[in-house]
Amino acid sequence: MVTVEPHRFSATTADVPEGFSPRTFLDALPSAAIVVDPDDLIVAANRRAAELLGYNPSTSVGRRIDGAMRGCLERAARMTAAGEEPNFELFFNGGCYVVQVFDVVVINRALRCIVATDVSKRKAEELQIRESEARLEEATRIAQLGTFKLIWDSGELQWSPHMYILHGVSTESYEPTAADYFNNVVHPDDVEIARRVLRDARSGKALSGVEYRIKRRDGTTRWIRMDGRVLFDADGVSYGSFGVCQDVTESKNREQELNDLLRRNATLYEALEASPIGVAVLTPEPDLPSFFYVNAEFQRLTLHNSFSLRGKSLEALRANDDASGGWQNALAAIESSNSGSFELVCLRRDGSTFLGQLEIAPVRDSPARAAIAFVVNLRDITVDRQRAETLLQSQKMEALGQLSGGVAHEINNLLQPVIALSELGAAVVDVDPDKVRRYFEVIGGSGRKARDVVRQVLTFARRDSVQVASHPLAALMSEALDLVTNALPPNIELKRDIPIGEARALVNPTQVSQIILNLVKNAADAMDGRGVVTVTLVPAMLDEAGAASLDITPGRWLKLTVADHGCGMDRATRAKIFEPFFTTKPVGKGTGLGLSVVYSIVTGWGGTVRFDSEVDKGTSAMVYIPADFADSESL
Ligand code: ADP
Ligand code: MG
Repeated sequence: MVTVEPHRFSATTADVPEGFSPRTFLDALPSAAIVVDPDDLIVAANRRAAELLGYNPSTSVGRRIDGAMRGCLERAARMTAAGEEPNFELFFNGGCYVVQVFDVVVINRALRCIVATDVSKRKAEELQIRESEARLEEATRIAQLGTFKLIWDSGELQWSPHMYILHGVSTESYEPTAADYFNNVVHPDDVEIARRVLRDARSGKALSGVEYRIKRRDGTTRWIRMDGRVLFDADGVSYGSFGVCQDVTESKNREQELNDLLRRNATLYEALEASPIGVAVLTPEPDLPSFFYVNAEFQRLTLHNSFSLRGKSLEALRANDDASGGWQNALAAIESSNSGSFELVCLRRDGSTFLGQLEIAPVRDSPARAAIAFVVNLRDITVDRQRAETLLQSQKMEALGQLSGGVAHEINNLLQPVIALSELGAAVVDVDPDKVRRYFEVIGGSGRKARDVVRQVLTFARRDSVQVASHPLAALMSEALDLVTNALPPNIELKRDIPIGEARALVNPTQVSQIILNLVKNAADAMDGRGVVTVTLVPAMLDEAGAASLDITPGRWLKLTVADHGCGMDRATRAKIFEPFFTTKPVGKGTGLGLSVVYSIVTGWGGTVRFDSEVDKGTSAMVYIPADFADSESL
């Protein structure tokens, strides 16, 4: 066995400088080095070999190499045999090493040297980079971000896997290029944007929050948001762009919807503000619904502004001198979430008052639920009311004029025979008593007729003073019909159908018989004294719409119908039947007052009269009589 003596070590090729010792040379190496002879006995090991691999020169020289280091020699031999460089990575004792094995001839001896360089630190860094790359990849996948790299001059475009998904193409069938992207992928309307962005990028601007549309192969359009930066080479020269893309179609659509909604709301608001009617919205507060919004007209009418009313209840508009109880009803309507229309004396902010028409409607998000708000419409009807009163007054005067003219004419006609026959009678009273008796009959007839006219006229005059009270209507009707029957021609049959039990109505009994008398007599006249007159009385419940069509209030009514199969009326006749003294009957038969009396009585009760009529078929007169609301059991 030959031992190497370090101080006599000499290289085969170069002169060894003075004082050089192979030991110091080996110890100065940054890598671990172990030298073995052909028998695998260790001939040298340096300081790093001791530190890193545990081969202490003093204990290991002369020992046969074993363990991992022996494995390295064997692996190197296999690699050399396979024609490869005997370089490889070795994980040993918690570290990572690059191992090189090479032959060295020292003093004619063929030795082998194992050099192991510690690369643990570099390896750890590499692993860290790979891990952070993997994390980035994972993050972009989770965030559904695609990344791309574009080389400007060549137009080469590299996509991350998610970019393909964003663009609706597969990695196998699509090869992205800048040219194809601009020509076929970007939406034609947005190509200009995309090109400008690229120009900006080439001039060094960062791409931040660029939004453009793409057209996918399946025809759908998507919104893409892109952020990016410029890439520089080692010499600091820019050569391309790197960027991140995201599909923002959903949020873009939501943004669009939101904009539409805002625009619609703005339009609605403007419309409300421009409304010629006062509009207020009240929202239910813990106790009383209070003002939430008032439009410009509402402010003009009340002299309030949106702040002076905010948080206050409707009561803020209540005038002190309101004695009618209307306000109580209006506030009760709100409290019970009902709608209603009220004429109320309203208080302005300056203390003055006006007559307002207040319409209240609850707003519900579902029919069965409590109101979430109230809409209140307000109109100043002071002037309307004055005008209506003036009109009513002038209509009254007109009617009175018509009436007095008609009465005068009628009475005058009736007085003619009275005067003429009394004169004639006086002349022949001694010679022809029979004639005088006949004259007296005519005079009496005219007198009674005149009394009828006067009675009917009195109905108008008494209109305001007649008392109405609650009466069982069926009983009143039956009495009146019994009376009428006696006055009817023998061939007129009267049929009654009155299934209303004890139901009560707010009427005046004399007026009830006046109505029955006039309607039944007209029916009998229309049938030339021969036929059936049907009188029915039924309860009628009127809803909002039904009541509006009749111009009366919704609720409970009793409906009287008098029907005949007589001559009927044409349109022109029907239009005039309520006019006093309008008659189509021969002189002496009709006064033309019957229906005007009926109309005046029924409207006086708050009810109304309607006619259905067809020429030669017949006529139905329908009278809506107010039921007594207090009488709840009978209906
Ligand atoms: P009069 O009965 O004295 O003519 P009314 O006021 O009672 O006066 O009626 C006015 C007119 O209305 C009648 O002349 C007639 O032309 C018409 N009229 C009223 N009731 C009927 C009816 N049931 N059928 C046909 N026409 C009628
Ligand atoms: Mg009549």
